[in-house]
Amino acid sequence: MKAAEIDEDGNWIHEGEKIPLVGSTIPVPDTARLRGEPEQQEVLYMTTALVKYDNCLSCNEHFDETYPCFVTEYGARMIPARCCDTFLWITEKIGEEYDGRNDA
Ligand SMILES: [Zn+2]
Repeated sequence: MKAAEIDEDGNWIHEGEKIPLVGSTIPVPDTARLRGEPEQQEVLYMTTALVKYDNCLSCNEHFDETYPCFVTEYGARMIPARCCDTFLWITEKIGEEYDGRNDA
């Protein structure tokens, strides 16, 4: 799967077929699994990259509303940056409650 193969509706275009990523299970890289979450995670929903970022974190291209952002069941976010054909993975800040348990 390449970032450039994902369309603005959240479909992965593969061998002429459109495969919706929402509802699919995808491999998540180590950098987005800081708490030891499983590698295979289901994509719960799609939003747009603009919700969080104005520019690509990799090449600084300006995002527009056609750039999707996928959110997995464990809160990892993935932006397929077709500007530079890169998958951007972002994790949310961990809540205080979780940190406390982690220190114990
Ligand atoms: Zn880019």
